[in-house]
Amino acid sequence: MSRVFLPGSTIGVLGSGQLGRMFAMAARRLGYRVHVYSPDDDTPTGQVADVEVQAEYDDLEAIKAFAGQVDVVSFEFENIPTETVNFVDRFVPVRPGGQVLHTTQQRLREKTFLQSSGFPVTPYRTIRSTADLDDVSAADMPGILKSTAWGYDGKGQVKVGSLSEMHSAWQALDCGEAVLERFVDFEKELSVVAVRGQDGSIVTYDPIENVHRNHILDLSISPATLPRRVADDAVDIARGILTDLDVVGVMCIEFFLSKDGNLLVNELAPRPHNSGHLTIDAHTTCQFEQQVRAVCGLPLGSVNQLRPAAMANLLGDLWQNGEPNWSAALATADVKLHLYGKKAARVGRKMGHLTALAESTLEAALQAKKARKALVEQNSPESKGCLESSPLTISS
Ligand code: AMP
Repeated sequence: MSRVFLPGSTIGVLGSGQLGRMFAMAARRLGYRVHVYSPDDDTPTGQVADVEVQAEYDDLEAIKAFAGQVDVVSFEFENIPTETVNFVDRFVPVRPGGQVLHTTQQRLREKTFLQSSGFPVTPYRTIRSTADLDDVSAADMPGILKSTAWGYDGKGQVKVGSLSEMHSAWQALDCGEAVLERFVDFEKELSVVAVRGQDGSIVTYDPIENVHRNHILDLSISPATLPRRVADDAVDIARGILTDLDVVGVMCIEFFLSKDGNLLVNELAPRPHNSGHLTIDAHTTCQFEQQVRAVCGLPLGSVNQLRPAAMANLLGDLWQNGEPNWSAALATADVKLHLYGKKAARVGRKMGHLTALAESTLEAALQAKKARKALVEQNSPESKGCLESSPLTISS
């Protein structure tokens, strides 16, 4: 049902990480009130929201009370239980709808949707038992075994180099269901951040080029250096997916561009995405403001890019030898610092990002990396050892 929520209304957010934080900042800039709901306290989103509710996602009384205080609800990441979202939807509209979350929060459902709708996906087979391992052949190798239950940043994944490693990989993953994906020897990784309004209108940012390290996004560059045909195809695929899924809001489509020039969809994120963070500083309307506009039924904003840009993630690893040297990074011309207000720095944890703007993407990438390097070149000695010791959960 089409309904518009004007500035002054209250938006509820399920989930309280950095995506919710940047969404709440955009919403408040537009004059909305923001209430956030999650099991945690003093969260990245809670710190900038009007109201922070701390309760479990299965606490129906607390969810009902939360829904009673807000006009419309969105979620900041896809690990929110679908049951919670559907329950909220009985009281106030949730955008994007529960069906989008249902499809995209489980790898096999997502791949089945993509394949049956004719979108190009990485070749895969489903593994539910050791018997399924017998069907795996040398042609499936090398591969990546991924749990179908939602993971992120490479969690719940094991690389399988050869057939002989299949059984140990299945045991190591220790889950009821997985997909075995062929390892793609890609030329590049790309993403398209797209937004669909209540009226079905769609706007898309130009494809963004992404570099991952240990399965975690490290660097994003926009605009991507691509043949026009590839960029146009990626945008067409993105538009098709948002339309078929009836998305209202932002969705990011992650792609591999194979060495022979073919696009394969790697995965979908039904929300603003890490690779789109550079739109905050580099575009007329950022992805978070687009999410606010779409969720509230307002016209979508311009996706015009103001300058070439690069975004470098700041992981907890940077705290290894003490507090990073913020002054050094901020002294770098045309670099913007974004920190998420997280108290504990852990290896692999996303603590913030830097965006560099320049005359070319190459220059922007160099500036972003230079600024990030400057953070650790002169750590302050009195703050040594503040990194929480935690084993890397990433399998590679
Ligand atoms: P995911 O969480 O599935 O998006 O994986 C995170 C990252 O791991 C991707 O962005 C790629 O860099 C890498 N990766 C995942 N699946 C594959 C694959 N099938 N082939 C090659 N690299 C992959």
